[in-house]
Amino acid sequence: MDTTRIVPPRRRAGLAAIAAAALATVVAMPAAQAQQKFVTIGTGGVTGVYYAAGGAICRLVNKDRAKHGIRCSVESTGGSVFNVNTIKGGELDLGFTQSDVQFNAIKGLTQFKDGAVSELRAVFSVHPEPFTLLTRKESGIKTFADTKGKRVNVGNPGSGTRASMEELLGALNWTMKDFSLAAELKADEHGPALCDGKIDAFFYGVGHPSANIQDPTTTCGAKLASITGPMVDKLVADKPYYAKVTIPGGLYPNNPDAAQTYGVLATVVASSKTPADTVYQVVKAVFDNFDEFKKLHPALANLQPETMVKDGLSAPLHEGAVRYYREKGWIK
Ligand code: GLU
Repeated sequence: MDTTRIVPPRRRAGLAAIAAAALATVVAMPAAQAQQKFVTIGTGGVTGVYYAAGGAICRLVNKDRAKHGIRCSVESTGGSVFNVNTIKGGELDLGFTQSDVQFNAIKGLTQFKDGAVSELRAVFSVHPEPFTLLTRKESGIKTFADTKGKRVNVGNPGSGTRASMEELLGALNWTMKDFSLAAELKADEHGPALCDGKIDAFFYGVGHPSANIQDPTTTCGAKLASITGPMVDKLVADKPYYAKVTIPGGLYPNNPDAAQTYGVLATVVASSKTPADTVYQVVKAVFDNFDEFKKLHPALANLQPETMVKDGLSAPLHEGAVRYYREKGWIK
């Protein structure tokens, strides 16, 4: 029932007084409880690395909750593009996004051609995300060119994976019709679909090692394929956010050989409206406990603060991050 419409104005004033009294009670609560602030980090599928890395960040933030009063939690989401749009909408405080998606969002390109996300702010970059082509071992796919006419998962709308796949298809002069099936499964569903024989391959921008790749390589002997060729060379040369990378051999069961591909960096972003103190505390939790952070997921093991504060960041740094990095002397 919508009470505002049926309650006469005088009663409404009465309700306002009750509400004010209730508020006074809240204000009178013990300081720590009343000041409790919540921060939510948007990630990706639960089997991906964003979710695990977000969990690592929150764990370190929550460790000092008694001091700063911030309670951090992660949310599983559709991925990079969804996170940027939801941060813009004010429903997420921070989120993970691929460095190519960050670039396109701040410049108003591709998925963001209807308007740049001018309030987007960079916090730090994290692990590399090679574009990963995982195939059924019976599919005969050795390189991306072999996926023509095959059943391929191209990523769910809202994922960074999907955005990068569209850029690759554009460069190759292919469309979704070049696949016999372009499936739009979420990252948590593409491994089971591969092992059940519903698709021949999936494309996924993800850090390594990832549970998402570990499962199908273990369960059904899925194979990594390469993403190389003249068009990939051109794409990497033309776009500042792409670099060639190798997924090392032996990282996953049944995959002794390295896979050549290209990729981006995972980054953490916020909004200019996310309070500076919140972002400062999140950044401080990660870098004050950096050795612990690196141990919380193997994809984080090789991170270095000096590169995390500059590589892959095309949006302006958030003021809360700037404050901490200046204190550390990492930026001017
Ligand atoms: N890069 C992926 C995306 O934005 C998500 C990877 C992950 O969840 O670790 O779609």
